[in-house]
Amino acid sequence: MSEINIQNTKEYDNEEKETQQSKIEAQKKLIYDKTVTCPICQNTFKAKAVKTSAYRVQKKDPDFFIRYLRINPYFYDVWVCNDCGYSLIKSDFPKIRKYQIDAIKEKITPKWHSRTYPDVYNVDTAIERYKLSLINYHAMDAKASQKAMNTLKLAWMYRILDDKKNESNFLKQTLENFNYSYSNENFPICGMDQYTFEYLLGELNMKLKNTDEALKWFGNVITGIGTPYKIKDMAISQKDIINKMLNPKKDNISTDTQKNHNSNNKGFLSNLFK
Ligand SMILES: [Zn+2]
Repeated sequence: MSEINIQNTKEYDNEEKETQQSKIEAQKKLIYDKTVTCPICQNTFKAKAVKTSAYRVQKKDPDFFIRYLRINPYFYDVWVCNDCGYSLIKSDFPKIRKYQIDAIKEKITPKWHSRTYPDVYNVDTAIERYKLSLINYHAMDAKASQKAMNTLKLAWMYRILDDKKNESNFLKQTLENFNYSYSNENFPICGMDQYTFEYLLGELNMKLKNTDEALKWFGNVITGIGTPYKIKDMAISQKDIINKMLNPKKDNISTDTQKNHNSNNKGFLSNLFK
């Protein structure tokens, strides 16, 4: 009996391996090699990139994390120069200043040991590469917002693994750096206008259970005169979730009130803004 079970397990394992292999083969067709020149050592290398036509969005989380089907573009977000160790998120990779080049040469290159990566990356590869880029951002004294975007993406990778401890740890680092950016950098920050950024600060605080701070930021977004409708709606819906969490009984009453208001066709907006 047990032999049969072992046999079944082996067959199952083989099937699993085949499925994994066919997934890898399928993903290989969705990526291509992009030629990149390293601004530190001038080495030319091939960075793996996901074909734009391969992007399939499944869902967006409230903190802008996008869940993809077929292949995950976040896994290919960091470029690594294997000659000198310079590693950054691809959008920042070419944007480096003279003093930062010197810092990478001094602090990263002497310690660098070249690495090999598989043809197709997974979440573990992505975490390793995002950690490499984070070390580089620190070494080159990058902007707080650049470090924050890197740690936010690391948090998202741990979310894929359902590793709440690491996710929360990197969200905390993200919030600290984004708080600093808010007071010290000019908008747009990481491509976000002020209201989108304030919304994200609200969302990060909400995730970290700093509800007072979260409500403050969502309140700013909701009452902001220039807030785009989409962001305003997102802030309203997140604020509503917090209010329901904090005071479920009060919510029941307000739902009833809302019904009355709706039937009277007045006061609907003021109810949303409570
Ligand atoms: Zn290099």
